[in-house]
Amino acid sequence: MKIKSILLCIIAALCLMLTGCGSDTASTSSDKSDNKDGSVRIVTTFYPMYIDAINIAKGIDGVTVTNMTKPQTGCLHDYQLTTEDMKTLEKADILIANGAGMESFLDKVIKEQKKLTVIDASKDMELLETDGEKNPHLWLSVTADIQQVKNITEQLKKADPKHADAYQANADAYIQKLEALKKEMHDTLDKVPHKDIVTFHEAFPYFAKEFGLKIIAVVEREPGSEPTPSELQEVIQQIKPLSTKVLFTEPQYSPSAAQTIARETGAKIYTLDPVVTGEANADAMDAYLVTMRKNMNTLKEALQ
Ligand SMILES: [Zn+2]
Repeated sequence: MKIKSILLCIIAALCLMLTGCGSDTASTSSDKSDNKDGSVRIVTTFYPMYIDAINIAKGIDGVTVTNMTKPQTGCLHDYQLTTEDMKTLEKADILIANGAGMESFLDKVIKEQKKLTVIDASKDMELLETDGEKNPHLWLSVTADIQQVKNITEQLKKADPKHADAYQANADAYIQKLEALKKEMHDTLDKVPHKDIVTFHEAFPYFAKEFGLKIIAVVEREPGSEPTPSELQEVIQQIKPLSTKVLFTEPQYSPSAAQTIARETGAKIYTLDPVVTGEANADAMDAYLVTMRKNMNTLKEALQ
C-alpha cells in the first residue's frame, strides 16, 4: 500500500514536470528564441553594427552574432545584396542595420524576409544633411554611437525578451567605456587651435559637429569614384588660403587624389579611420574605442 502511494506520487510529479516543460516551450513562441535549440541568430549589416552587437550580446549562451558583409566592404553606399547575403539572412532571426539610408537594400529585405526582425540603430535620431541627402554616418559621433547602442539594446530586448537583462547589463558596461572615450576626446580636441579639416568622403559631419571641427571640403563626393579634375581644382582653391593645411584620407580609399592635392597646396596628409572595415572576430569588441582614440591622436597632432 505504502509503495503504491509513493509510486503514484512519483508519477504525479513526473506529469507535473512534463506539462510544466510543455507550457514553458509554448510561452516563448512569440519571441525570437523559439528555434528548436533555443538559439538566437543575430546578423549585422556592416562593421560598426557588428562592433555594437558583439558588445551587447557578449557571453550570452545561445546568442550568435554574424556580420553579413566582408571585412573590406566598408560603408554600404549603393551596396547590392549578394546571393550569399540572402542565404545568411534566411538563416537569421534578427538583423541589425544602421538605418538612416545607409542600407538601401533594407526595404527589399523587410519585404522578402517576413520572419526576420529588423532593428534600426538610428531610430528617431536627428539626422544631418549633406548635399540635400540624409547623412547616415551617425556612429562617428560618440554621443550618437551611444544612442545607437541604446536603440539596438531596446529593440533587441523586445525581439528576444529571454535575454533582456543580459543585453541591458552588457550595454550599460559598454556605454560606460564609450562615455569615458567621449570625455577623453573632448579633453583633447576641444583645445586644438585649428579647426578646419578636409576629409575624403562624407563620413565625418557628425564627428566634426561633436568636436567643434569645420569640414571645409570633401575630396571624393561620390564614394568610390575619383574626383574630376575640376572638383580637384575646387578643393585645391579651398585649401590654399588656410593657415594650417591638412588633408585626411581614409584607409579604405586610394590616396592618389589626396597626393595630387598635397602636391599643389603643400597640405600634409593624415589618415582618419571611419571604423567601417575589419575582421568580424573577438578583436572587433574594442575596435571602435581603439580606432577613435587613434583618430583623436591624429587630429591632435595635425591641428596643433
Ligand atoms: Zn560612408
